[in-house]
Amino acid sequence: MNKFQILIVEDDPPIRNLIATTLKTHDYRYITASNGEEAIMQASTYNPDVMFLDLGLPDMDGVSVIKKVREWSVMPIIVISARSEDSDKIEALDAGADDYLTKPFSVEELLARLRVMQRRIALLNSDGENGSGAIYRNGNLKIDYAAGCASIGDQELKLTPIEYKLLCLLAKNTGKVLTHTYITQHIWGSAWEGNLASLRVFMATLRKKLEQYDDSVQYIQTHVGIGYRLLKVDVNHHEGNQ
Ligand code: CA
Repeated sequence: MNKFQILIVEDDPPIRNLIATTLKTHDYRYITASNGEEAIMQASTYNPDVMFLDLGLPDMDGVSVIKKVREWSVMPIIVISARSEDSDKIEALDAGADDYLTKPFSVEELLARLRVMQRRIALLNSDGENGSGAIYRNGNLKIDYAAGCASIGDQELKLTPIEYKLLCLLAKNTGKVLTHTYITQHIWGSAWEGNLASLRVFMATLRKKLEQYDDSVQYIQTHVGIGYRLLKVDVNHHEGNQ
């Protein structure tokens, strides 16, 4: 039995049932809520591991639910949105959501997003056990925060200060989708349009440097029109992990 408990927040019964059945089939535990107030209540009572949250709820906007829950919890929140506008997803991500699914979505997609969150939780927990968190490891990627350098396997990466800053920001949020605005505000302190163009260039060069020694691994995932995510690489497929 999978120990993970998932809170499903969705007012549309067929979709709620689809998610519930999928989770049940894959041995996840789940609880449900059909409106925002119930969602906040369930989240605070049961402290689930992950929340699937529909943005269009009858009593309040999903973004308000995220803001409320973020006052006391870092539980991964995956937003489910029927709206095709990216602005809704961006608003939800900036409010503290970790990822998003757009309706209609497939069962496989749902499970894949859930696995990303499980890896994110595992990483957050192992950081806690290591205490200092002075060294970051993900697949063959290693960041030595004290020395201020990053490497892939034995190869040190020649990063510019901005690229290094970007990598650290992404690493700190491994598994979470970061919006363009979030990133530019953290790197440059503002989100003006010139920075967005710079961000694309820096991301492209950073990605190239990460993949120069091993292009079979994708570390940085691009979310067109939204932002970027650093993926937790499956350690089983790579050497050099300790
Ligand atoms: Ca809805």
